[in-house]
Amino acid sequence: MSEAVRDTFGRPLASLRLSVTDRCNLRCRYCMPEDQYVWLPRASILTFEETERLVRVFAGLGVHKVRLTGGEPLLRHDLAMLVGMIARREGVSDLAMTTNGLLLAQQAAPLRAAGLRRVTVSLDTLRPERMLAFAKSARHADVLAGIAAARAAGFGALKLNTVVIRGFNDDELADLIEFARARDAEVRFIEYMDVGGATRWSMDQVVSQREMLETLGRRYGRIEPVAGDPHAPADRFRLPDGTTFGIIASTTAPFCRSCDRSRVTADGTWFLCLYAERGVDLRDLLRRGAGDAELAALIRDTWQGRADRGAEQRLGVADRGALYRIDSLRADPHREMHTRGG
Ligand code: SAM
Repeated sequence: MSEAVRDTFGRPLASLRLSVTDRCNLRCRYCMPEDQYVWLPRASILTFEETERLVRVFAGLGVHKVRLTGGEPLLRHDLAMLVGMIARREGVSDLAMTTNGLLLAQQAAPLRAAGLRRVTVSLDTLRPERMLAFAKSARHADVLAGIAAARAAGFGALKLNTVVIRGFNDDELADLIEFARARDAEVRFIEYMDVGGATRWSMDQVVSQREMLETLGRRYGRIEPVAGDPHAPADRFRLPDGTTFGIIASTTAPFCRSCDRSRVTADGTWFLCLYAERGVDLRDLLRRGAGDAELAALIRDTWQGRADRGAEQRLGVADRGALYRIDSLRADPHREMHTRGG
């Protein structure tokens, strides 16, 4: 394989999050709290062939991990077909998806058969009434059915993502660990982030990694760190009985130094950091008939100039509040987390 392309801090171009749609069937308070959104124009959404072509070019530059996300990726029609096209791509050794699970019960088996390797399901609460209040959805049972279907379809290393928010679900940490353990899954608690879309974010709602470990330590006893992939966003821990869980401490202990991830939106805009002000328009080049070499040159040169460390910079902001107000998100929906892909 070719030498990894590295940015100004020596971080390799290794991991790509592909947002396949900006639409979502939940309205989580920390991501899409509004009823109305400005959507990406339909004609701008990349076709499967265009997406696959981008993956091919990225893979040629060293990207070996691809994660499908959104919006809600399962809303993209015929997703299994795209999965098949990417799974056959040489160089992509890890193809995963992050989903809210609402439609997973129907799609888990075909996605698995098409070559999807890993699934992460977002599950913020075990209480249906909390989901109704927080995500405006009464479909908690569908998420649980989706998790069961993923296991039945043979997805190993199933992960559950939980955004922990003070006063909403911070009393469910142990319950979620127990829930995951019973399903041979691993829960990853995510600190509430001030990304685009989180217009109601405030620091006092953030439950820090430290606080989560203290809470869980009181319940379970000594918690040990688990060594692992230095580029993975989650710090992993082990309870005395061997159960493992992760914490993604992007807000209070950002890991920009090891960040090898970038994101392509459904309309082909490439973001080098979740917090980046602007992205690179790859769709324009694609649709103007550029060859793979031209696309690869743009991607390589851009990555080699990458100096982003958005989460660390946010840490230095005094009186930190929401990153964007709703009017600036409406002015440019590319700023939204659900457009960039979480
Ligand atoms: N719809 C899919 C889902 O729900 O998993 C994929 C997209 S979603 C944007 C990806 C992940 O980002 C989810 O686990 C979600 O909980 C997380 N997320 C969204 N907004 C967040 C925020 N403000 N802070 C932390 N995580 C957030």
